Amino acid sequence: MRIGIPREIKNNEKRVAIIPSMVEELVSNGNEVCVETKAGEQSGFNDIEFESAGAEIIKDTKKVWDCEMVMKVKEPLPEEYQYFRENLILFTYLHLAAEPSLTDELQKNKVTAIAYETLALKDGSLPLLTPMSEIAGRMSVQIGARFLEGTFDGKGVLLGGIPGVAPATVTIIGGGVVGVNAAKIAIGLGAHVKILDVSAKRLREIDDQFNGRVETLMSNPQNVSNAVASADLLIGAVLIAGAKAPQIVKESMVKAMKANSVIVDVAVDQGGCIETIDKITTHENPVYLKHEVVHYAVANIPGSVSRTATLALTNATAIYANSLATLGIEKALIKHPELQSAINIHDGNIIHPAIAEAHKKEF
Ligand code: NAD
Repeated sequence: MRIGIPREIKNNEKRVAIIPSMVEELVSNGNEVCVETKAGEQSGFNDIEFESAGAEIIKDTKKVWDCEMVMKVKEPLPEEYQYFRENLILFTYLHLAAEPSLTDELQKNKVTAIAYETLALKDGSLPLLTPMSEIAGRMSVQIGARFLEGTFDGKGVLLGGIPGVAPATVTIIGGGVVGVNAAKIAIGLGAHVKILDVSAKRLREIDDQFNGRVETLMSNPQNVSNAVASADLLIGAVLIAGAKAPQIVKESMVKAMKANSVIVDVAVDQGGCIETIDKITTHENPVYLKHEVVHYAVANIPGSVSRTATLALTNATAIYANSLATLGIEKALIKHPELQSAINIHDGNIIHPAIAEAHKKEF
């Protein structure tokens, strides 16, 4: 199969969907890999490295999209919709629950859209989302700490405090991969950490993992309201796989936060779990003030630590990319049945139930 790797065009998106070792493996299995020139540059992989691994370097973006399978990092932007066509296999992050126009275009053009983020193993884990969630979770605290500084409209609070001055409170809504990784860093910096989740099992695991150093709370309106009001830094980390994020934190709760507190809604890529997160922001312009609270809503947080993120992403995607390219979709599905959960759209139909539900269409 011919596999195309376009250069990412989203604001400050510096990751790339492939690394030279992956090219080598695909080519040794009889595939051809076409990498758009400079696609890997911002992740520290130059054209010469890709070429030495066996890739063809292509200047014309359309030619890259003409390949049978296109692998990307982020969802295609409107200027890329022109490349959609019947039988194109698109393997990338898509987040379609929050992307009605992209969903329509993929359906209309009968693209087979395979989403990294919905690929689920039997135990419910999401192996192609996990590495990015690990990164985004760790970064969310780093980012929150920065915006709590007075120079960035924050309240001028040091997360860990110092002896004699109380630490800041970090409230994390959702105790999954993002939430736990955020907690690790927040605890490491000495903050007081609260995690809320709807799963009692999850809260028990977190309590065991952090040996009591995290306050665990059942996510119900009363607890959410209190934990939000007490937060210096609020992190949104809720996920219902494939579905639009439920808005757990209401506007009235944000209004009750202390002035110049900070919200980092990591779940913004699924629509956000905080009501006052009403737009996606970019790495260039990452925050806005609402009700005197700093709101950060960047949907591609790992894009700014591109080297780490590209290596982490491709560690996880390589096995599936190799099977899809070498065996074709049908045989790849036999080898990895979990790939079925990643197929969001095929032959003009929405296949994934949660995405169909989000768009209120039959499946
Ligand atoms: P996960 O499935 O590991 O964890 C989600 C957690 O949310 C689960 O523990 C679940 O029980 C909990 N939850 C569900 N409903 C809840 C509720 N009402 N109240 C509290 N908790 C609830 O998911 P994850 O990998 O941690 O991802 C979290 C979000 O972060 C997703 O939307 C994901 O797409 C997003 N994400 C964003 C970026 C970015 O750059 N912005 C990067 C990676 C991941």
